[in-house]
Amino acid sequence: MGKITGFKEYARELPGKRPVEERVNDYKEFVGLFTEEKLNEQAARCMNCGIPFCHNGCPLGNIIPEFNDAVYKENWEEAYRILSSTNNFPEFTGRICPAPCESSCVLGINKPAVTIEEIEKHIIEIAYQKGLVVEKAPLIRTGKTVAVVGGGPAGLAAAAQLNKAGHTVTVFERDEKVGGLLRFGIPDFKLEKWVVERRVKLMEEAGIIFKTGVEVGKDILADELMKSFDAVVLAGGSTIPRDLNIPGRELKGVYFAMEFLKQNNKRVSGIPYSEEDILSTDKDVIVIGGGDTGSDCVGTSNRHKANSITQFELMPQPPKDRTEAMPWPTYPMLLKTTTSHEEGCTRMWGVNTKEFLGDANGELRALKVVDVEWETDVFGRPVKFKEVEGSERELPAQRAYLAMGFLHPQKQGLLEQLGVEFDERGNVKAKEGQYQTSVDKVFAAGDMRRGQSLVVWAISEGREAARRVDLFLMGTTALESKDAESMYAF
Ligand SMILES: Cc1cc2nc3c(=O)[nH]c(=O)nc-3n(C[C@H](O)[C@H](O)[C@H](O)COP(=O)(O)OP(=O)(O)OC[C@H]3O[C@@H](n4cnc5c(N)ncnc54)[C@H](O)[C@@H]3O)c2cc1C
Ligand code: SF4
Repeated sequence: MGKITGFKEYARELPGKRPVEERVNDYKEFVGLFTEEKLNEQAARCMNCGIPFCHNGCPLGNIIPEFNDAVYKENWEEAYRILSSTNNFPEFTGRICPAPCESSCVLGINKPAVTIEEIEKHIIEIAYQKGLVVEKAPLIRTGKTVAVVGGGPAGLAAAAQLNKAGHTVTVFERDEKVGGLLRFGIPDFKLEKWVVERRVKLMEEAGIIFKTGVEVGKDILADELMKSFDAVVLAGGSTIPRDLNIPGRELKGVYFAMEFLKQNNKRVSGIPYSEEDILSTDKDVIVIGGGDTGSDCVGTSNRHKANSITQFELMPQPPKDRTEAMPWPTYPMLLKTTTSHEEGCTRMWGVNTKEFLGDANGELRALKVVDVEWETDVFGRPVKFKEVEGSERELPAQRAYLAMGFLHPQKQGLLEQLGVEFDERGNVKAKEGQYQTSVDKVFAAGDMRRGQSLVVWAISEGREAARRVDLFLMGTTALESKDAESMYAF
């Protein structure tokens, strides 16, 4: 423990952000860095708990009190070694993770939690600056080959680990660049793309082969893949969006959020696209769905200079503080005001969309909506809703972005050709902890297996699946696991 009285002396602080009026004019990240003194103080707030609940809150099992201590002592090599022993990509999670570790931080019982996510970002950026982040090709190759389908965080983590174990790894990605939703979903103002490219370059230097613009199941059929590789990891994400099949859905101006965000990410990176421009400029925008994807549509629309932006959520407004139904150290479903919301947006809860209304040219002109009232269970959790009589009205909108989540992976193509079984939600069936699908030598990880989730879970699943593949190929494995005793053996 760095400083015994640190948690009493220092308040939680976060680095400054660029002012809203400035940052909405560009797509650059806007969260700054701590000064050396502030970083030291924030790390000093960690109490090095006897039972560090933060470990448990983190899907990667990050060894948090130990790296906080190393940061306090300014031992950057040690801090980087500890952090990278459990997390392949702290530069991603340090920027965009909702930080479940902070929700379970013991200090959070009666004070604001330790700023674990920011400390993580500082460790990795300092490590890059000091030249500590080097990925070396393994000294010995096993002669085994593994195909990873999908270059999102799950596929990248699996590839990094399998390469470390000495296997020859090829990552197939159908997009023109690797990164999955890190590259084409999440906007630059949350995660600039050079951050992804910096990591991919290191992985290439370590011997991982990337084949972009290749859709497995179309450009390479499943049979060929199975014949050419000793094992396959499916990490294709959960890509089928939830639709809103109400009258007027076909109108021009109604888009899935990912149509809007993917095109914008390409535009910002100068990658050509063939579809018609989707712009929020001078439009009244309504975003349907209150999660991360919806919030990214808000931030992007502000940068397009929309006339107005409204975000709907069908569920009631969540509480600001923990309730009996979400006690510490569980991850609480609290009201989340993102940096995109801070930039300007009207938020409405308990609103249901009944119809998209168009003009004579087939273009969206308004949404017909109604307020809903929720019935709750004994813990106050919403279970059933009914419409509020007389609340039906029209709200003007020329753009509506559907951000209501994703149903399951694309089955057509590769998954159908392989004949993998699906679970009851339509995701690829592979037991948690095993990652083996119903087809021999085929494993699955990330959103494709667990359904729409988080980057930190994708990395965790990629690592764990790699360990299982290594065991399958070699009969033994030295790869770390968050569940194994090896986690503490650094
Ligand atoms: C807009 C948006 C914002 C988000 N914001 C956050 C956030 O702030 N924080 C957070 O933690 N999570 C966020 N998420 C969730 C997070 O991005 C995902 O949980 C995570 O990226 C899943 O990783 P994955 O590797 O499983 O899948 P993906 O990232 O979806 O990657 C799958 C890759 O597989 C490729 N692929 C699919 N099929 C094939 C095929 N047959 N052949 C070749 N390639 C194929 C796809 O092109 C894609 O590149 C967000 C999601 C969205 C949509
Ligand atoms: S729970 Fe919080 S205070 Fe305790 S060790 Fe983890 S980060 Fe430090």
